[in-house]
Amino acid sequence: MRAVDLIAAKRAGRAHTEDEIRWLVSAYMRDDVPDYQISAWLMAVCWRGLTADETRALTLALADSGRRLDFKAFGRPVVDKHSTGGVGDKTTLVLVPMLAAAGVSVAKMSGRGLGHTGGTIDKLESIPGLSTSIDPDRFVAAVRDHGLAVAAQSPDLAPADGRLYALRDVTATVESIPLIASSVMSKKIATGAQAVVLDVKVGSGAFMKDLDSARALARAMVDLGRSSGVETVAVLTDMAIPLGAAIGNALEVREAVETLSGQGPADLLTVCCALGREVLVSARVDGTPHEAERRLTRTIDDGSARAALRRLVESMGGDVRCIDDPGRLPAAPHVSPLASSDEGYVTGVDALVCGEVAMRLGAGRATKQDAIDPAVGLVLRVKLGDRVTRGSALAEIHARSQPPVDLLDQLRGAFTLAPTPPSASPLILDVIR
Ligand code: URA
Repeated sequence: MRAVDLIAAKRAGRAHTEDEIRWLVSAYMRDDVPDYQISAWLMAVCWRGLTADETRALTLALADSGRRLDFKAFGRPVVDKHSTGGVGDKTTLVLVPMLAAAGVSVAKMSGRGLGHTGGTIDKLESIPGLSTSIDPDRFVAAVRDHGLAVAAQSPDLAPADGRLYALRDVTATVESIPLIASSVMSKKIATGAQAVVLDVKVGSGAFMKDLDSARALARAMVDLGRSSGVETVAVLTDMAIPLGAAIGNALEVREAVETLSGQGPADLLTVCCALGREVLVSARVDGTPHEAERRLTRTIDDGSARAALRRLVESMGGDVRCIDDPGRLPAAPHVSPLASSDEGYVTGVDALVCGEVAMRLGAGRATKQDAIDPAVGLVLRVKLGDRVTRGSALAEIHARSQPPVDLLDQLRGAFTLAPTPPSASPLILDVIR
């Protein structure tokens, strides 16, 4: 086979066979096919798409490029969750401990933030001493011994996806439903959980800006999971506004601890419960979403979810005193309020703008090599529907030094004020089973 023939076939809109896709992935991993040919093929896929059969073949080829973990012998269900990425999205830090306390094991590979979206690994690493790089054997042992493990993506699991994703990032070939679906699901299949819940974010702060494309992505991922024997359910959640109030790594850990202590923002808990009840039902731990939700809220009320987060942090070498007292987390030296220059009801808080401002403060990275500052970020001081007066605080800015005026103006532009309150909009937009 020759890569150039596959590129030409895809450019002409023809479907590949499973063998052709497997050959392309393994030849790329052997360095027999160079980056520039794979890039051309990826761009052809962005324009021409992949059939369901091709997407499945690509997913399995990516999953089979490394080890595939298996937890079937563990005797209790092992589940996983994945978010397509958002702003202020600390659901993993809240939901993983809730699930572990609710009686399932959780095996989760997480990513780092890129651009305006945050990543769980960066958030966890804001806890002093904590290390997220563990090899697959230690990952399996942590799931067995502690009932939960969160680790950075390992080069042993779906390594072909790691290489392809890095290439897509710099060749403008990320935004393709079959490529995103196969990338996400190859990692889920390689990680070996029996049930997976996908949090597909929709809105300005997400990859998928509209409900129709989010549904198509969710459908593709659910079908891929099911056809590979992984119970998969997707929950479409709103990302037009940031989730919770905190945006920035240590600030989000603090908000996660507050949420696990029963004092977090309602929207964050709503999304965590919606995802959690779906995965508990998929894993057959509970017969109905209602039972599952009761089980999950009990883990907050009795403190067992917070204890599970403490266990997770301890198992990763982190300073557990930060969970007992989040005041010990890294803190920015300069905290200033953003005052409203107008009055009215808050009818919008643009998640993309908030994410970009947090990134400018140093909470995110523009390129994979950038270092991030764990302490900086934003805390929103208003929610949709709040009435604000001129001069009242819209947000708190946590920075290394006095923020420049243009950053303040940029952040002020995230808030839409109107003379009348907004109508209520749902947080949970759809569930694809
Ligand atoms: N997240 C992934 O893991 N892969 C993609 O392609 C996009 C988001």
